[in-house]
Amino acid sequence: MTDAIDPVDQPTPRRKPKELITTIGGRPMKPSTLMMGYGYDPVLSEGSLKPPIFLTSTFAFENAAAGKRHFEGITGKRAGGAEGLVYSRFNAPNQEILEDRLAIWDGAEEALSFSSGMTAIAILMLAACKAGDVIVHSGPLYAASEGFVAKIMAKYGVTYVDFPAGATPEQLDEVMRKAKAQAEAQGGEVPLIYLESPGNPTNALVDVEAVKTARDAHFDPDRCPIAIDNTFLGPLWQRPLDQGADLVVYSLTKYVGGHSDLVAGSVSGKKRFIDAIRALRNTMGGIADPNTAWMLLRSLETVELRMERAGQNAERVCAFLSQHPKVEGLGYLGMIKDPRQQDIYNRHCTGAGSTFSVFIKGGEAECFRFLDALKVAKLAVSLGGTETLASHPASMTHLSVPDERKAALGITDNLVRISIGIEDPDDLIADFDQALAKV
Ligand code: PLP
Repeated sequence: MTDAIDPVDQPTPRRKPKELITTIGGRPMKPSTLMMGYGYDPVLSEGSLKPPIFLTSTFAFENAAAGKRHFEGITGKRAGGAEGLVYSRFNAPNQEILEDRLAIWDGAEEALSFSSGMTAIAILMLAACKAGDVIVHSGPLYAASEGFVAKIMAKYGVTYVDFPAGATPEQLDEVMRKAKAQAEAQGGEVPLIYLESPGNPTNALVDVEAVKTARDAHFDPDRCPIAIDNTFLGPLWQRPLDQGADLVVYSLTKYVGGHSDLVAGSVSGKKRFIDAIRALRNTMGGIADPNTAWMLLRSLETVELRMERAGQNAERVCAFLSQHPKVEGLGYLGMIKDPRQQDIYNRHCTGAGSTFSVFIKGGEAECFRFLDALKVAKLAVSLGGTETLASHPASMTHLSVPDERKAALGITDNLVRISIGIEDPDDLIADFDQALAKV
C-alpha cells in the first residue's frame, strides 16, 4: 500500500527525468556531451536553448504546504534536502544546473558552487572543525589557503600538522600519529585532511592513495574526510575521488572558468560531507551568483577543448624552455625527474597540465627582466585562462609566506610561474625566446 499524500503537499518537480539522462545507446555519455544539456529542459523556460539568468532573490511557493515542505528540507528536519527553490542564498536554477554539471566531471555525488575558490575552502574548513581540532594538510598550499589554516582557523582554536607534498607512506603514518596526539592533547579530533596536488606553485604531487591508507589506519573515514584542491589539473587530468579523496575543491576562476573573466569556486564529493558544507553555506551565504553560474555553464561547454589545447601548447613550450641556456630547470609535470613524483603522476594523472614553473638562471632581477620583456604572455597572477600568464610567486602570490617556509617549499627568487593558454604555440615560443634574450 502506498501512502496517500494530498496532491497539494507535493511540489511540482522542476526537473523532469528526461533532463537527467546520462546514457545513450546503453552506455554512459561523456562529460563533454553532458555539458551541452544536462540538468536543463528548455521547455521549462519558453524554449530558450540556453538557460536564462534567473535574477531573483526569492521564489514563489505554489502553496503554503509546499513552502513548509521546502523549509523542512532546507533546515534538515526532513532528510533528502530541498525539493524546490526557496531563496537565492540557498540555491537557484543557474547554480543548480552548474552544480549538477560540475559533479559529473569528478564522478561526485553532489557539488556546491561558491563565490570564489577561497569561499569554498573557508566554508569547507569552518564546516569541518570545532575548537581543539587539528587539520592535517599538505604543503605547499595556495598562500591564502595556508594562511586561512594557520591564522584564521587558529583564532577558533584549530591547529594544524603539515607535511611535504611528496611524503612517503611511512612519513604519512608518522604525520597522522602526530596529528592524533596533538588533537588528543587539545581535546579535539582530526576532522579534515586537506591536500593540494599539484601544489601551487611548485607542482609537487601528493600521493592521495597513500594518504587514504594512512587516514584509514588512524581515523574513522566517516569523520575525517580527505579534501583536495584540484585546481591545477582538474577536471580533465586528475579525478582524485577515484584515488580515495572524499571531496574535491576548485577555484573555478582558473581552468573551469577559463577566460579570466570571473571568480568562483566549488566543492564536490560524497553527499554526507557535502550536506554539512551546504548547511553552513545556507547560513553564511557565499554561493556563486546567477550571472557567474551562467558564465560557468558556457565555460564548461569548452573546458575539455581548452585544456587539451593548452596542454599541447605547454608540452611544446616546455620542450623549448628545457633546452634554453638561460633556464636552470622546469617544474613541469611532463618532465618529472624524481622517481617518487613520477610514480604518483603515473597513478593519479592523465595529463601534465599547462601551469608550470621555470627556474631562470639568476634571481629576482633576472626574472623581472624576463617578465617585463614578454609581449604575448601577460604579466598577471592567476592561471588556466585562454591567454598565457606569467608571474613571480616569491614576490607576488606567495609574498606573505615567511622566507624559511618559502625556502623549504622550493619557492625560490628565480622561479617564474607560467600558465600556458590556447594561443599559437610558435608565437608563444617566439615570445619566450625574445624575453629570455633580455635576461
Ligand atoms: N586554490 C588554488 C590552487 C589557487 O591557485 C587559488 C587562486 O589562485 C585558489 C585556490 C583560490 O581561488 P580564488 O581566487 O577563486 O578564490
